[in-house]
Amino acid sequence: MASLAIHGIGVSRGYAIGRVYRLQRAQTEIVEYELQAAQLDAEIERYRTGLELARAELRAIRERIPAASPTDVAAFIDTHLLMLNDSLLAKAPLEIIRSQRCNAEWALKIQRDRIVQVFEDMDDEYLRTRKDDVDHVVARIHRILLAGAENPVGDLSLPRFAKRIVIADDLTPADTILMQNQGVLAFVTEYGGPLSHTAILARSLEIPAIVGARQVRRYLRDDEIVVVDGVRGVVLAGLDELSLDFYRARQQQEQQRRHALTAFSHQPALTRDGTRIALHANIELLEDATAALRVSADGVGLYRTEFLYMNRAEPPGEEEQLAVFLDVIRAMEQRPITIRTLDLGADKQVDGGRTDAPLANNPALGLRAIRLCLREPDLFRPQLRAILRASHYGRLRLMLPMLSSIQEVQQTQLLIAELKQELREQGLPFDEQLPVGGMIEVPAAAVCAPLFARQLDFLSIGTNDLIQYALAIDRIDDEVNYLYDPLHPAVLQLIHMTIRAGREVGIPVSLCGEMAGEPRYTKLLLGLGLTEFSMHPANLLEVKQVITQSECIPLQTQVKDLLHTHDAERFIEKLLGLVAP
Ligand code: PEP
Ligand code: MG
Repeated sequence: MASLAIHGIGVSRGYAIGRVYRLQRAQTEIVEYELQAAQLDAEIERYRTGLELARAELRAIRERIPAASPTDVAAFIDTHLLMLNDSLLAKAPLEIIRSQRCNAEWALKIQRDRIVQVFEDMDDEYLRTRKDDVDHVVARIHRILLAGAENPVGDLSLPRFAKRIVIADDLTPADTILMQNQGVLAFVTEYGGPLSHTAILARSLEIPAIVGARQVRRYLRDDEIVVVDGVRGVVLAGLDELSLDFYRARQQQEQQRRHALTAFSHQPALTRDGTRIALHANIELLEDATAALRVSADGVGLYRTEFLYMNRAEPPGEEEQLAVFLDVIRAMEQRPITIRTLDLGADKQVDGGRTDAPLANNPALGLRAIRLCLREPDLFRPQLRAILRASHYGRLRLMLPMLSSIQEVQQTQLLIAELKQELREQGLPFDEQLPVGGMIEVPAAAVCAPLFARQLDFLSIGTNDLIQYALAIDRIDDEVNYLYDPLHPAVLQLIHMTIRAGREVGIPVSLCGEMAGEPRYTKLLLGLGLTEFSMHPANLLEVKQVITQSECIPLQTQVKDLLHTHDAERFIEKLLGLVAP
């Protein structure tokens, strides 16, 4: 059908048909040169001016965000503005200029490499992707510092991207906004991952997009007509009229699908046989709350607090965290919010990578999450106090990550009791009944779920980790990724055991790993008895749609039968009956 198909990762659904615009950037080569002591002050000034210009550019772009855009769009630009003000970029390079007597560009490059190293060592895919933001911000400053380097997006007012399919190496959130402003049809980039801000932004702005389409700029010509299939993650060139018609029809169907999904946002998530399913959102940043509200999430089922600790010299104090939690409570308009305590590990440094602590050989099995927090009460206490204090102002739940032994629960509960007493003595209000729950993401905890269920107020299954630990598959190791299987019988048994344990003692059990947001698995999870899902807001309506088409009771019978099937072939056969293709 197509004479050329280039594959990447579809990160924003939808189809676009149009002419190619290849965005060519001049490769900026950063060279080092030595400065005399007398030149250092002027060099520092030059860096500061560069930063100021970068800020001015971003502010100008922020002004261009259309009023009708989701409010989280501006937050992406704000993140970059914040990074420009962060001491890691605003101060550290100045120290490097002085200590190494080098030019501003080189100092920035050294600092960029340091920051990026920290991000690359992270095992959380979302946080790892944040390194792209560092690169985008650094590239902007570099371009400004290198006199004569042209802004690839150029004059902001030129409508070069209107009705075009932009093909680029990578795009910054700022580029994305400018192009949307001009009526771009779709993006295809050679780099970037599904969790990059640009990918998230493309989804928010509903622009079809593909990332990781290696070599795409080499194979496509300017003005050539192509189809971007954001669903399958493929760019097609050289199509005949018949094939183009096929994609025009697909485009129309997709628009109808979107329209139908929006209608679901105000419907309750009720199964056909009348079970009300709670649908919560996973959030990392304050601005994610807007996306959660847009799809009418019942609340936040997982608020990952790691973000507050990243990319800074000192961990945030109690007051700062309290202020952020109160912002999130306000943003969620008093809906329930489950705040997960810090899930940092040996591989995720809290100080922007400046400690010399050696990395563990096996960070995922090392001093991570609750283990680290209990080891370092000075890190843990301010966060627990901030959550307790915030609980006075909203419907909060506190959730502990990566529990493996019941002693961790008991130790944390003692600490919480001590902090509650402290707050009482200080006359600071908090919710005496603040529910304390735990994540079941280590197989040992799932097997002993009845023990945990009796000590905790709720459980939440973190399948991302549960799968990696149950199957001994490092979730970020490409070599073994093919074995990472959410449908492995062992994984299903562990989920089932956890849900059953919660039900037996009458505490809520939710599931907040990526599995919850996969519409393909919705029926299976309902059959496993799950009644609370927490997922990326972008997936919520589609999952809700499947729920409204499902009947819990027959699904539960089917799953019970599946879990008792010990013949491998029959197991697969029955599983296929529960999982959408
Ligand atoms: C999980 O492990 O499923 C989970 C939700 O936690 P995270 O992805 O943040 O490790
Ligand atoms: Mg986890």
